[in-house]
Amino acid sequence: ATPMSVMVGVGKAAEAGVLIRNGEALQTASKITAMVLDKTGTITWGAPKVTDIVVSGETDETTVLQLAASLESGSEHPLAQAIVDTAKEQQLTLFPVSAFNAIAGHGVEAEVDGKKLLFGNEKLMHTKHIQLGNFVAKAQALAEDAKTPMYFAINGELAAIIAVADPIKDDSIEAIKRLQDNGIRVVMLTGDNRATAKAVAAQVGIKEFHAEVLPEDKSQKVQALQMEGEIVGMTGDGINDAPALAVANVGFAIGTGTDVAIESADITLMRGSLHGLADAIAISKATLKNIK
Ligand code: ADP
Ligand code: MG
Repeated sequence: ATPMSVMVGVGKAAEAGVLIRNGEALQTASKITAMVLDKTGTITWGAPKVTDIVVSGETDETTVLQLAASLESGSEHPLAQAIVDTAKEQQLTLFPVSAFNAIAGHGVEAEVDGKKLLFGNEKLMHTKHIQLGNFVAKAQALAEDAKTPMYFAINGELAAIIAVADPIKDDSIEAIKRLQDNGIRVVMLTGDNRATAKAVAAQVGIKEFHAEVLPEDKSQKVQALQMEGEIVGMTGDGINDAPALAVANVGFAIGTGTDVAIESADITLMRGSLHGLADAIAISKATLKNIK
């Protein structure tokens, strides 16, 4: 395309709330054959809320929430935010935290109020040899309801499951359908558990998804699609999406996401809506047509 037509295209995109960092990305966007979408914060709002607290031992719900929120106050994860916000709504005071450790893709651990606390997914509990018993079935039922269940252990004993739900953005279903109607293969990637991922993918009409993907493995999934011959667009909001955004043929960042994601991407969707993807592709196609 001529520099002039690219400039016009970049301007049109900006009017639609799609910021294109370089002319090359605008030209490649029309050639995208597969679009990888992160789940949390991309398809969903990324603002999860606590929905269920199921206790197993003698520790009551309020104490569980108070301890979990204290533990999570040192984490920047959206799941942590949900726990801390809920505790604040209930005006619970938080304890000081020591020996805090965040384990990417797994959860967090620390000492709070003289207790050793663990909070995270099944992988984390397996690593730490926590017996889950019939709570695995309870977690499964919550996950099938599209909620994300997390296990909470006190001094090596399972104390509760805390589940959060992260609503799907109002227009994600429609925006994903627009991509599919353009013949684009849509793939969802998430660090979340398989049952939750499956429920969310079904809600938004995505057949192909990868769950329990560790942060460091997201870019490998993009590369695997490229090896199959796909021209890959990747859309994400988180720090853990940055390497995948950089490796994709075109990286799209959610404007409300982290700075690291925006810096790693070629295009930023200022409005956060996934409609920006089909808009960018349509503008790219029009730009290329104009110069022929
Ligand atoms: P995503 O790609 O969906 O943002 P992550 O890789 O960040 O997922 O996390 C994967 C899983 O690890 C979460 O679904 C959760 O079960 C667990 N996890 C990660 N961080 C935390 C945390 N701070 N507190 C509790 N659980 C966590
Ligand atoms: Mg995300």
